[in-house]
Amino acid sequence: MASTSTPDFTRPLVLFGPSGTGKSTLLKKLLAEFPDKFGFSVSHTTRSPRTGESPGVAYHFTDRPTFERLISEGAFIENAEFSGNRYGTSAKAVQDFEGTGRRCILDIDMQGVHQIRTNHPHLNPIYLFISPPSFASLRTRLTSRGTESPESLQARLDAAKGELEYAVSEQGKADVVVVNDDLERAYGLFKRVALGEVMGEGEGDSVPGDL
Ligand code: ADP
Ligand code: 5GP
Repeated sequence: MASTSTPDFTRPLVLFGPSGTGKSTLLKKLLAEFPDKFGFSVSHTTRSPRTGESPGVAYHFTDRPTFERLISEGAFIENAEFSGNRYGTSAKAVQDFEGTGRRCILDIDMQGVHQIRTNHPHLNPIYLFISPPSFASLRTRLTSRGTESPESLQARLDAAKGELEYAVSEQGKADVVVVNDDLERAYGLFKRVALGEVMGEGEGDSVPGDL
């Protein structure tokens, strides 16, 4: 059932979920459909750009010394090591949307989610877990995306186990879950969450029990 309260776009939306579950795909569709309603928090990363990823749009691509200098300067509200690379959300990436009327959307891993929950509760985001329909689908999707070496594929699948465990744990539980099974169905629900029409547990999907 849709929530009757007014959507509060000052609350950021934090997406998390295993690599390959479809977070970027869903986000890209949303930003294309509503170019004026949402703003993507552009993270810093030390990983190399993939084909089609523009600097400053997908990520701020940077080297490790620069990343570490930014940490020491206190630039990040959270940061993590994931699959051999550093990732972090700068305070600026989120602040850029304050007062603009746009809802800020973050796409971060579980370490980042934990740090925001612990250190920045005032951000008061909605936490949205994007679940795969099955564990096997992650390997298929990551392989078909064609972006990963065998080592990086394995590192992502290893990390995925932790992401799934976190999402079903008491401390990691999301406000809403979207299972990205059929893309159009999942996008329909994702869109309603982003627009603030679906905000709480019981209004979204459930994490499949056999993951
Ligand atoms: P993430 O950002 O979570 O790592 P991506 O958005 O890059 O994941 O998606 C991983 C791969 O899965 C991409 O090749 C994408 O086209 C594909 N994909 C995304 N959603 C679906 C879906 N619902 N069904 C099948 N394939 C999907
Ligand atoms: P990818 O390399 O596939 O773009 O991202 C790998 C993982 O890093 C994904 O789980 C993604 O959500 C996460 N990630 C991207 N940006 C950030 C960030 O700024 N902080 C954290 N903690 N994780 C991030």
